[in-house]
Amino acid sequence: MSDDSAKDKDPDPKFGFETLAVHAGAAPDPVTGSRAIPIHQTTSFVFDDAEHAASLFNLQVFGNIYTRLTNPTVAVLEQRMAGLENGRGALCASSGHAAQLLVFHVLMEAGDHFVSAQQLYGGSLTQFSQSFKKMGWDSTTVDARDPENFRAALQPNTKAIFIENLANPGGIVIHMQAVADIAHEAGIPLIVDSTLATPFLNQPFEWGADIIVHSLTKFLGGHGNSLGGVLVDSGKFDWAQGGKFPTLTEPQPSYHGLRFYETFGDMAFSIAARVLSLRDLGPALSPQNAFYILTGIETLPLRMERQCANAFEVATFLEAHPKVEWVSYAGLKSSPYYDLGQKYLPKGAGAVLTFGVKGGFDAGVKIVENVDLFSHLANIGDTRSLILHPASTTHRQLSEEAATAAGAAPDVIRLSVGIETVDDLKRDLDQALAQV
Ligand SMILES: *Cc1c(COP(=O)(O)O)cnc(C)c1O
Repeated sequence: MSDDSAKDKDPDPKFGFETLAVHAGAAPDPVTGSRAIPIHQTTSFVFDDAEHAASLFNLQVFGNIYTRLTNPTVAVLEQRMAGLENGRGALCASSGHAAQLLVFHVLMEAGDHFVSAQQLYGGSLTQFSQSFKKMGWDSTTVDARDPENFRAALQPNTKAIFIENLANPGGIVIHMQAVADIAHEAGIPLIVDSTLATPFLNQPFEWGADIIVHSLTKFLGGHGNSLGGVLVDSGKFDWAQGGKFPTLTEPQPSYHGLRFYETFGDMAFSIAARVLSLRDLGPALSPQNAFYILTGIETLPLRMERQCANAFEVATFLEAHPKVEWVSYAGLKSSPYYDLGQKYLPKGAGAVLTFGVKGGFDAGVKIVENVDLFSHLANIGDTRSLILHPASTTHRQLSEEAATAAGAAPDVIRLSVGIETVDDLKRDLDQALAQV
């Protein structure tokens, strides 16, 4: 995919997902021939001359100024994620939460409102209800299992709907297409956190999403070594309708009155997120982390295949276990989300599942303390298998009622199944369950 070899070929070849995972955004370094992606560990970039500097600052030409705004290593990751999601533009951030902050910073004014699913990562529920609220961004959470709940919560100042397509920690598949229709009828974008699905299992733009966010920290990086986040824009949303998004349509004082949507069209959202929100809020991804995450993405398809297969086998094993009350995994026929899973995630229902242990909170604590191979920690998406008791960790800031609504009742154990030999995983869970 180097520039030379691409010259005589189809300028827009439709490469397969596995090819894009290895190559999208990358080419051998034109100066050194380096085949791996160079880590541009620099804060800043030399200008050609004063005129070049001025045109960069005016956004008249694209180029590197300072790593808070752009960095060539991070840019490869941005292009790779845009390629894998089939989006128009992408912007990396220092974490998944930082990416969410940048998205809402473009969309919201103080006093605006958005509607989110109740079935979200616990940290997102806290981000929305506490820190976003402090900035004057109001939100309502609704039970996402019925898409009509989103319509009922819309207000005149509602600027977006936010869901997870495969909700953590409950193993819940949301009827994304129906939620997208409701958002579009209201003239607002649908934002999908696709962290648990990854672009390998589900591509939200095919189902009507307008903006995708990922925590790259999880399956995309895949090795539990680097935090990162990304937003991807489909480039298809009409930001001018209804005058709801002044950041994109009104003159921007810090760029001599530039109007982003008028000037940049389908790139307006990702450019505004970079040169307004990332510029001022500052959560840039480090080039070193971008390198680790890019290396991880190369094997995303292989890892997801194995992790989904292992998760299915572990879920089947637990479902038959006498000390287990229930298992929630959309890949099981017993799951109420099985049919939606077949529609939205035909390649597999992901590698995260939850189960209820007989004996409630205390039994849950006992299991996480007695596993050997599973690591007891607050993360998902590692090559290693991970275990968590949400009620005593990630969801402990929430009331028992809110935690239960988010799928984190006292008896819930969450597993993120890794790439190990599946029999070893089953044996480890079996001995821990025996101690309850
Ligand atoms: C981890 C996670 C986040 C937050 O990402 P960070 O990289 O930890 O900031 C958001 N959504 C989901 C579904 C997650 O699993």
